Amino acid sequence: MNKPICQRILLKLSGEALMSEAGGSIDSDILHRLAAEIRELSDFGVQVGLVIGGGNILRGAEKASEGLDRVTSDQMGMLATVINALAMQDALEHQGLQARVMSALKINQVCEDYIRRRAVRHLEKGRIVIFAAGTGNPFFTTDSAASLRAIEINAGLMIKATKVKGVYSADPAKVKEAVFYPRLTYDEALDQRLNVMDTTALVLCRDNNIPMRVMNIFEQGAVMRLMKGEEIGSLIER
Ligand code: UDP
Repeated sequence: MNKPICQRILLKLSGEALMSEAGGSIDSDILHRLAAEIRELSDFGVQVGLVIGGGNILRGAEKASEGLDRVTSDQMGMLATVINALAMQDALEHQGLQARVMSALKINQVCEDYIRRRAVRHLEKGRIVIFAAGTGNPFFTTDSAASLRAIEINAGLMIKATKVKGVYSADPAKVKEAVFYPRLTYDEALDQRLNVMDTTALVLCRDNNIPMRVMNIFEQGAVMRLMKGEEIGSLIER
């Protein structure tokens, strides 16, 4: 296929995806490898919106369990996502792409504010938009932010990057008999409490009828093959 299966995608990476094996929070090699994959997608005509988590630096709920105020911890978590977004913006620019970080929290001297119409315009011009600071609200996750932005920018597909092939009945790293699901519905994922995304994110995608691919994006070229029409990972639909 010489045309992508959809024109615009929202790719959700966890912060941990940027971590080195040795535990460094942002690994340059990983960052550049991901940026190179995104360049291939862009060259193929795919408009790419990105949401990167902050879990490699800080998760609000974890800090709150240590005694920090939850809202403050979540604000720290959202700022962590901005750090990752800036790192990715730089890596994308090294690939010759134009990239814009748009933050849900105002940090004007560092990046643009998130304004939906402006984000869509950037995408139409072939720029990669990195949506930072989650939803801008505490008590949410970047999975929910990704679902929200995917809907807002009218993405044809949301891709949730994982370390495994896709959705399983249980964690395949722990349960040998875990069954892989190539296709499932949002209600099945919710009813069986499958560890895909948090409930808010799944419900948002279901109610707004946006399909989601859960896949291992560390398999080199996998997203590109998906965009060319190959069945990769798990597809969740309504
Ligand atoms: N966060 C938040 N509101 C949002 C998105 C994120 O408060 O809309 C905070 C929250 O504390 C979260 C942290 O930012 O733990 C980092 O995001 P997340 O845990 O989703 O990152 P990931 O697990 O994907 O790396």
